Amino acid sequence: MTAAPVLRVHDVRKRFGDHVALDGVSLEVRAGEVVTVIGPSGSGKSTLVRCVHQLEGIDGGSMYLDGELLGYEFHRGHLRPLPDRRAAAQRGRMGMVFQQFNLFAHWSVLRNLTEAQVAVHGRTPEQAREEALRLLERVGLAGKAEAHPRQLSGGQQQRVAIARALATNPRIMLFDEPTSALDPELVDEVLSVVRDLAAGGMTMIIVTHEMSFAREVADRCLFMEHGRVVESGTPQEIFDRPASPRLRAFLSRFS
Ligand code: ADP
Ligand code: MG
Repeated sequence: MTAAPVLRVHDVRKRFGDHVALDGVSLEVRAGEVVTVIGPSGSGKSTLVRCVHQLEGIDGGSMYLDGELLGYEFHRGHLRPLPDRRAAAQRGRMGMVFQQFNLFAHWSVLRNLTEAQVAVHGRTPEQAREEALRLLERVGLAGKAEAHPRQLSGGQQQRVAIARALATNPRIMLFDEPTSALDPELVDEVLSVVRDLAAGGMTMIIVTHEMSFAREVADRCLFMEHGRVVESGTPQEIFDRPASPRLRAFLSRFS
């Protein structure tokens, strides 16, 4: 593959007080590529995707979306943080799906899906509504537009959250353990939506504890520990031929 990466993360560092959450993380995601991220709790997986989505600032390194520096701009020869509006516009080119869905509880499903389309992306309410209904059908929730989140199961809420993230035509989708808050019987309905996105060529980073899914859906898999990418490779390399003792020990917990 020769195309420029959709996302480039270069030597990113992030501290919380004295705690180093990301200790020089680099990765590239190319168009249509699915990268899964595995690793123990506390290894920095959420911090990584939250930094990419600019929910957290970074303390070092740089990130580029379609070659454009994320979060900062040059001003008189110095880097300075982007003004909020431009940071929001960059964030709007990525779709993020959280463990806890993060839907607006007091809004209908439809409004959850249309708000950002109108406010950030300048679509008319009618365009936004059409897109929302199309996406609800795509995630298997046609007919739920007027429902409120509390009337839906966790699996349905998460599918609404995925539709919401898709509604703004993101260049990349970021998933942070999208099935960890779900009852086991609801996991598959969400994973199958993510699987469909992968088959449709969506560019994605997926943090997950579902090892068989991480293997099946990935073009490339990263293993993180202590804020670093310890190992990365094809699913076969990571799951069948893990090189580091730490990855082997981690994987043995799931078999
Ligand atoms: P993971 O998603 O792999 O479980 P996280 O990225 O959530 O790991 O966290 C990495 C480390 O950073 C953990 O030690 C966690 O306690 C710490 N951390 C994450 N977010 C914060 C925060 N907002 N304030 C302080 N420490 C944090
Ligand atoms: Mg996490």
